[in-house]
Amino acid sequence: MNILLVYPHYPATFWSFRYAMKFIDRKASFPPLGLLTVAAMLPGAWEQRLVDMNVSVLTDQDLRWADYVFISAMSIQRQSAEAVIERCRRLGVKTVAGGPLFTSCHEDFPDVDHLVLGEGEIALPLFLEDLERGTPRRLYTAEGWAQLGETPTPRWNLVDMADYAAMNIQYGRGCPFDCEFCDITALFGRRPRSKPLPRLLAELESLYALGWRGAVFFVDDNFIGDKPRLKREILPALIAWMETRDFPFYFYTEASIDLADDPQLLELMVRAGFEEVFIGIETPDEAGLAESGKLQNKNRDLLDSVKSIQQGGLQVHGGFIVGFDSDPESIFERQIRFIQESGIVTAMVGILTAMRGTKLFQRLEREGRLLKDSGGNNTAIDLNFVPRMPPEALIAGYQRILDTIYAPKQFYQRVINLFREYRPRPQGRFHRQPGHIGAFFKSMLLMGVLGQGRRHYWKLFFWSLLRKPRLFPLAITYAVYGYHFRKVADKMRESGMFDGHGGWEEDGGQPA
Ligand code: SF4
Repeated sequence: MNILLVYPHYPATFWSFRYAMKFIDRKASFPPLGLLTVAAMLPGAWEQRLVDMNVSVLTDQDLRWADYVFISAMSIQRQSAEAVIERCRRLGVKTVAGGPLFTSCHEDFPDVDHLVLGEGEIALPLFLEDLERGTPRRLYTAEGWAQLGETPTPRWNLVDMADYAAMNIQYGRGCPFDCEFCDITALFGRRPRSKPLPRLLAELESLYALGWRGAVFFVDDNFIGDKPRLKREILPALIAWMETRDFPFYFYTEASIDLADDPQLLELMVRAGFEEVFIGIETPDEAGLAESGKLQNKNRDLLDSVKSIQQGGLQVHGGFIVGFDSDPESIFERQIRFIQESGIVTAMVGILTAMRGTKLFQRLEREGRLLKDSGGNNTAIDLNFVPRMPPEALIAGYQRILDTIYAPKQFYQRVINLFREYRPRPQGRFHRQPGHIGAFFKSMLLMGVLGQGRRHYWKLFFWSLLRKPRLFPLAITYAVYGYHFRKVADKMRESGMFDGHGGWEEDGGQPA
């Protein structure tokens, strides 16, 4: 059996970091972890190939080679996934689809031959058994949640690691919180499940043995869902593993803001090699937090919490949302002020989106306020519900936030604000790779010589060189991120998205 695993193309959004990849001669942020894991669950005798359309071209020859094309996608990849399915249909190649896009709206894909929905560890074996018997059904839906002890190590050998800026692994699934707009609890449940320690270490060991050095992203939606286990078992073992191998990786992940309340957990994470954490801040407005059920962010000084984490040794990246029913007119200025003061350099701001499967979707449906389905990208001007605020005011305010926070003056100043608070671990080092030298010179040319806001670039350059020399490489990394954010914001403006039309361009992608 010949199996082709296809990961559809995603457009250049704030999240893709596509324009930053060019600086370090990488093609994408990280490989398709879900497909690599599915590959490891397929019978060993089957021939397998993988095409990640974000790093290489999917040809008709690839498709014709396959007996089955396995497609996994998130909502943001919908356009490309549809095109791949259509190509397979035309060529008469059978398709098997799974992942969040298909799990949340499988009815939209009548041309897929087999849908394997929910957790692959449960649904995929059912499909494989029926396939073996020659009687595969069209629809398989996982009942319940998988025990992650059964999840195999991803088949990293199906990708060229040199194409990616980071590798990714998953420790756990599920989140104890239940924010109204988030689909994580619908997809993975509220009880955090995690891999047994030996499985986790085996995955790290496999990356190490394959020669990977540098960034490893723990893709968990909330890494600290089960704090006692992390402190008791996982982080001490991770520290020992990293020390024995002289810190070959540095880690980043996503966590909830209550990380700030647990200095012991924070310290263990930093000692284990964590350097960055993405946190859903959402809004500095208490009413918005209450409305969205973001209870862990309520009744606290969010600015103080962010600074505690930075001072504890982690750079904080943040997600922000505008468009809550309770948002006052002043929300845009408050968001800008918060982002600037917090030193959250990588600030991802989006308009509230009602994704299928969320409590928000159900509420807005009940209230008759849904407009259309979400494209799955909450940083697009893609209103899929009727907001309380006039839509023009919401979009104009959103544009004002983007225009301000990514502008060179404010962006570089935020890096300085971060560096004033950030205390990296004493033994920490920034893992330089050959591409980073090239990135350094490219950044000087593109931002220091040709770019707008050159003055601010050089201010950060010399400030960090003289005042925080150890953080100087990080200053360049953030400068490159800023270039990416401005480029995406420019593309949005050019495509007319702020004027209520246009959409994400495939931008540099391939004909799917
Ligand atoms: S804390 Fe994060 S992952 Fe958990 S429900 Fe809220 S938004 Fe989702």
